[in-house]
Amino acid sequence: MAERRLESTGQIIRLYADVATVQMGDGDVHVQATIRGKLFTEEPPAVGDWVSIEERSGGQVISGVLPRKSVLARRAAGSASRRQILIANVDQVMVVFAAASPEPNLATLDRFLVVVEANDLQGQIIINKVDLVERREVEELFEPYKKAGYVVHYTSVRTGEGLGELRRDLEGKESVFVGPSGVGKSSLLNSLYPGLDLKVGLVSAAYGKGRHTTVGGFLIKLPGDASVADTAGLREVGLWMVPPDELPHCFLEFRPYLGECRFSDCAHLAEPGCAVRAALERGDIYPSRYDSYVKLREEATATWPRW
Ligand code: GDP
Ligand code: ZN
Repeated sequence: MAERRLESTGQIIRLYADVATVQMGDGDVHVQATIRGKLFTEEPPAVGDWVSIEERSGGQVISGVLPRKSVLARRAAGSASRRQILIANVDQVMVVFAAASPEPNLATLDRFLVVVEANDLQGQIIINKVDLVERREVEELFEPYKKAGYVVHYTSVRTGEGLGELRRDLEGKESVFVGPSGVGKSSLLNSLYPGLDLKVGLVSAAYGKGRHTTVGGFLIKLPGDASVADTAGLREVGLWMVPPDELPHCFLEFRPYLGECRFSDCAHLAEPGCAVRAALERGDIYPSRYDSYVKLREEATATWPRW
């Protein structure tokens, strides 16, 4: 058949249910395309995906997904074997907390970092609103994360502190900002990229609807070849599942000791000859991080299905 198939590729920058906005080629042209059939039911493409598009009778259709360099995916309770891709081709996850107002919750921070590591992504930490606190105290509080190997940015939208370094770390990368509401995610993006004019509170508006199985989301292209993605599913971090066996690997500072324990299946809880606990006793692992591990391990063991 001599039907002319016009196929082209672009990146999904907005998604709602089965309708995607695709930014074509060099960026000026946006196309609305639907995701149909098998592609939609099996593992639907996500914001950030590069896709091929075909012109069919009735409109543009996404005909395929190009190989992904990374995904931010979750496994929800009850469907452990199925993953839901929230955002594709992410380079890094910026986990944002406020130094105060709201007070930082380290257990929640650890939970976010576990999700980052479980997806094999790069994570950076942003502590915003440092204008409200004593700098020395806040740096002490987050020292365990720096020691674990994370970049920790101390920023203030009010004073402009730390914004230059942060902007540099966003350049040329696709980033996702996560963190509790009210910590200043929208404010940060607005002051990093004046003219962007994100509504304060944006990062949580736009979808709502709570427990949708279909995830919507968007990707904003920014100057400096940076882009920032967001999706409603990111905020339900409490519902994410990580298998208990994968958890030790999700604590960066445990990694040098994994494989050094007496038992190869060591859970690093009460086993004799545990290299992780030995590091804890030597002071090479911070007690607060180890305690988080124990809590998350208990939770994961209780909720993860036994085969
Ligand atoms: P989001 O929910 O994480 O997107 O947070 P918003 O950007 O909506 O900010 C929440 C509130 O914190 C707003 O009232 C901001 O004006 C305020 N805020 C944001 N950044 C800073 C900061 O660096 N210092 C102070 N003192 N307040 C800030
Ligand atoms: Zn161990």
